[in-house]
Amino acid sequence: MRQALRELHQRHLGETTGALADYIPELAKGDPDRFGIAVATAGGDLFQTGDCLAEFTIQSVSKAFAYCVALELLGREAVLERIGVEPSGDAFNAIVFDPRTNRPFNPMVNAGAITVAGMLHERLGDDAFPTLLARMSAAAGRPLAVDEAVYRSETETGHRNRAIGHLLRNCGAISGPVDTILDIYFRQCSMLVTAVDLAWMGATLAHIGEHPATGEQVFELGAVRDTLAVMFTCGMYDYSGGWAFKVGIPAKSGVGGGIVGVVNRQLGIGTFSPRIDALGNSARGLRVFEDLANDFGLHTFECLNQGSLFVSSMLQRERA
Ligand code: GLN
Repeated sequence: MRQALRELHQRHLGETTGALADYIPELAKGDPDRFGIAVATAGGDLFQTGDCLAEFTIQSVSKAFAYCVALELLGREAVLERIGVEPSGDAFNAIVFDPRTNRPFNPMVNAGAITVAGMLHERLGDDAFPTLLARMSAAAGRPLAVDEAVYRSETETGHRNRAIGHLLRNCGAISGPVDTILDIYFRQCSMLVTAVDLAWMGATLAHIGEHPATGEQVFELGAVRDTLAVMFTCGMYDYSGGWAFKVGIPAKSGVGGGIVGVVNRQLGIGTFSPRIDALGNSARGLRVFEDLANDFGLHTFECLNQGSLFVSSMLQRERA
């Protein structure tokens, strides 16, 4: 695995398509060349290559974990009543709601994620963000912090999200003060993580909610299953269909350049490369995941799943 990651890193080092997100001004100040790949196993091993300890803001990757916490705290029926589980086929920041139900299409687009923040606020009040931070830190296996500059930058410029928040308030999807709810959402998006953190966070989901190295049970079983299902169908914005077809594992991307992928019961994969494509996904991250899935047979519906066997046999050999 170590060797495979090194080769993969080498193979895609020259891939420079895409550009830094600049609609949040502070994100445009990042180093576009950063590139890290990390893989954590459900058995607690970690493999990494490149800029794996470089910090970046988690952005939309946080939506998957916030959804998982909401499912646990509020119950799937209550969450489902307000947020759908259908791919939207629209951009992550689209101002659209499911015309049949008036709900946000799913929790992985901004409208759904802001509704999640609203529901957490209803349940937890001022503890909503500290709870999210604590859970996501436990999933990463280390205390995470907020990038104050990115948080401020998005707060100052996030008028589109503010508009979405007011529409949600108007139709009763959220009931608390819009600014307070957006503050939770902007903070959760500004948490600093590394590719290694994403790999562990993915491995925690892969390991049905238990962090494979710390042993902490971070998320509840049923919530993990539901979260992975939505990551599988909606995690990559309007590239989710292409991703399910080509890569075939639950995943979530963010405009900060991170992607987390989950090979159920086996692996968490984290990539970081901040040049993003027109749909908001890390361009280099997509290539890396495609190759990893092909080389190791990670696709959920890979008939022999030989690659996965290969991974576990490699690990066994290494331990022997
Ligand atoms: N904070 C960002 C936003 O709301 C997250 C978007 C993303 O990563 N796709 O615009």
